[in-house]
Amino acid sequence: MKTSTPYTRFQSTLHKVLKRIQLESGQNTLFDEPQYAHKNNIVITGDDGLQKTFPAFRIQYNNARGPFKGGIRFHEDADEDEVKALAALMAIKTAVVNIPFGGAKGGVQVNPKGLTKKEVQEVAREYVRVFQEHLGPDIDCPAPDVNTNPDIMAWMRDEYEKLTRSYAPAMITGKPLSFGGSLGRDTATARGGFFILQEMVDRLALDPSDMRVAIQGFGNAGAHMARFLHNEGYIVVAVSDSQGGIYSPEGIDPVRIAKYKEKTGSVTGEYCEGSVCDTGRMNMDDVKKITNAQLLELDCDILIPAALDNVITADNAERIKAKYILELANGPTTPEADEILKKNDVRVIPDVLANAGGVTVSYFEWSQGRSGEQWTANIVDERLKRVMLDAYKAVRREARRKEMTYREAAFSVGIKRMMDAMAVRGWL
Ligand code: GLU
Repeated sequence: MKTSTPYTRFQSTLHKVLKRIQLESGQNTLFDEPQYAHKNNIVITGDDGLQKTFPAFRIQYNNARGPFKGGIRFHEDADEDEVKALAALMAIKTAVVNIPFGGAKGGVQVNPKGLTKKEVQEVAREYVRVFQEHLGPDIDCPAPDVNTNPDIMAWMRDEYEKLTRSYAPAMITGKPLSFGGSLGRDTATARGGFFILQEMVDRLALDPSDMRVAIQGFGNAGAHMARFLHNEGYIVVAVSDSQGGIYSPEGIDPVRIAKYKEKTGSVTGEYCEGSVCDTGRMNMDDVKKITNAQLLELDCDILIPAALDNVITADNAERIKAKYILELANGPTTPEADEILKKNDVRVIPDVLANAGGVTVSYFEWSQGRSGEQWTANIVDERLKRVMLDAYKAVRREARRKEMTYREAAFSVGIKRMMDAMAVRGWL
């Protein structure tokens, strides 16, 4: 079997949709490769005095609609192909929510958990040093992604301002509140997905208290999502992190799990220390330990992949029991899995729509950075809701009119908006 990569998986959906919207010949090629692919090595001196070298990328896919925008991930698997796919998804995503940005992504091939805080700071600052000329509020505005956080954004902004001798809060988003961040940015990805799920559940006249939800990933997106859903009356039956998860048909309390995760480092921490679990207590609470693979196949109504890509594949898609999938992670479902899910009537709300709340509040942060305004939490929440519901409506309408899946429809809406801007610029 031909092995796929993140970028070939992206292209598979892209080409399918480009065919449906029937471009004139030659226009397809505009989408095939990113506009710029910047690569460099990040070299730091570790705390032990030895040099450490990490490959780093900033891939700028398309800026027809505005400055390049997208996070930077620190991950040992972050190679050029993956970052390229994520950059392309960002361009579609900013177009789907109709905010004035293009799409880009950054990555450093490093496991930050193996570095000291000082070394992580060095990596962050060096990243800005090597890519400085390609960054800036009107050029390319990064943000957090997997394994990067507000502290890292603050170091990057500081380094950029030092190098350019400027005041540039809008050069990066996801910053700490005390250093130009926006209220609501930390919860934005989950909040945006929550608004869409709520709207879908309302429209289908479903009752949240009948909805059993399984969430893979308990980082920023997954943990906040679990809390929003629990507070709204949904039954969160399972959560997991990279070490595994827990399942209870009666529902678990995500707030309690979050506390134990903070204390012990894992979501199973309330019941297990490493591989040793208190089975007595687990039986009493009707809780079972599960693997990440088992979580995806649980008997539930809504499945939320909120961790890494490529987890719902041709190998397990047939066994997925959920009727709805909300992709808070980027790229969790392969094109082959998409076909199987479609055949089985599983509705997938795709990443480029479901997790666009993060970049939407990044846009609000960027606007505040440029204007000097500070919005209240209520304003952020209201505006985020409006943006997300407008995007959802546009995708739903396209899906219905063209008999497309929601992923195809989201790509279609996004690509058309990108093409409008490209046409005005004379690129087409
Ligand atoms: N990394 C996030 C994403 O994949 C946020 C990007 C941003 O805020 O620019 O959407």
